[in-house]
Amino acid sequence: MPEITLEIVPAVVIPTHLTGEVQSKLAYVDQGIAKAVVSADGLHITLHLHQQPNSAERSRLEEKVQRVVTSLARGAIQPKVQVLEDFMDRPVRYHQDPNDVLLARGEMSQEAQGIFTLGPLVTRLIEFFENQFLGLAASFNAAPYRFPTLIPARYLERVNYFRAFPHSLSFATHLREDLDVIDDFAQHAACDHEHLLGALNTSAESFAPIQTLLSPAVCYHLYFSLADKPLPGGQLVATAVGNCFRYESFNLRSLERLWNFTMREIIFVGSKDFVLQNRELARQEMAQRLEKIGLAYRVESANDPFFIGEFRKQAAFQSAFQLKYEIRASLPFKNATLAVGSYNYHQDFFGRNLNISLPDGSGAPAGAPVHTGCVAFGLERMAYAFLAQFGPEPANWPAVVRDWIKTSAAPQNPGGA
Ligand code: AMP
Ligand code: ZN
Repeated sequence: MPEITLEIVPAVVIPTHLTGEVQSKLAYVDQGIAKAVVSADGLHITLHLHQQPNSAERSRLEEKVQRVVTSLARGAIQPKVQVLEDFMDRPVRYHQDPNDVLLARGEMSQEAQGIFTLGPLVTRLIEFFENQFLGLAASFNAAPYRFPTLIPARYLERVNYFRAFPHSLSFATHLREDLDVIDDFAQHAACDHEHLLGALNTSAESFAPIQTLLSPAVCYHLYFSLADKPLPGGQLVATAVGNCFRYESFNLRSLERLWNFTMREIIFVGSKDFVLQNRELARQEMAQRLEKIGLAYRVESANDPFFIGEFRKQAAFQSAFQLKYEIRASLPFKNATLAVGSYNYHQDFFGRNLNISLPDGSGAPAGAPVHTGCVAFGLERMAYAFLAQFGPEPANWPAVVRDWIKTSAAPQNPGGA
């Protein structure tokens, strides 16, 4: 079938620092778009479409694309990128995309777009990185927590999540408690290669109103558990690992960008100084750990991928107040970097919105909202970036990684038989 493309000239030139942002947001413009490419000079947009549009569809598409372009790019000011660490010149040994070899060896298999199972090699590597993060957490005496995968809608609403990131939400629902509905579903549910057909045949009223979503981050659960009361002791360091979900449409490809991924976080709650000092200490300790591993990366200021209505204001705010830094690991095979972790400071945003206050004697006026911050690591991305730099053969890995994996491996035959 010939490829169907649509060329669009953006209403305003897309500045270089926003071409990636616009390109990834175009995924959410229309289901008919299979891929979107913004030219490096910001003067052209090429949409790859599933079907030839008629003229009405075409103008509707163009109008929606221009809406994305103007809200992200019109009057945009390039933020000054602050680089805190730059170790991009560390020697790397591999220059291929590890996805292909991992798939070929059965070390990774795709269940659906953005959903992968991982085999023993990647799992052991993730265990190695988890051990590093647990070591980092232990140096802060972080209290361990376990959080659910589901998160109530009313929690996310309280922290403005629906307005900031509507595009990446994943909803959880179930059949209504009604014998006829459940019987009907049981008899008619079937799947084509992607979709549950029963869900299409079954009317929308068969599903219960949405109470919960799949959680997009780990630290939110801690803040919600502290809501509407003073923080005992005035400060807290916690750590947890959890499944996170961010729907990223056609941007979901390979281990690089997942719908369902795992995050380890170390979370700081207390006064402004407490949070900022600990975020900085965590960065310094992590730098030492990454040096021993030999990872090529830099740490630089960044912003979250807010949706178009909120992007300009929020991204500028994050940048002005140095709220987010990302660890961006080198991907030598494509001469690019990938965020494998972040150092975040939320000021008193969660303290104010969730009514978490500082108690008497904590330095700040009693009743003032707590400040929060977190350091967050994407486990799959850490392993992916490592494999992109050192390849899939453990013999070529740095000794610290190889040795840890060797000594921590469970004995295969405990009885020796
Ligand atoms: P963030 O809260 O956006 O700073 O995310 C923390 C870390 O989670 C990032 O630095 C990534 O390593 C990881 N992460 C975020 N989104 C994804 C995704 N879609 N797929 C895989 N890892 C992700
Ligand atoms: Zn967090």
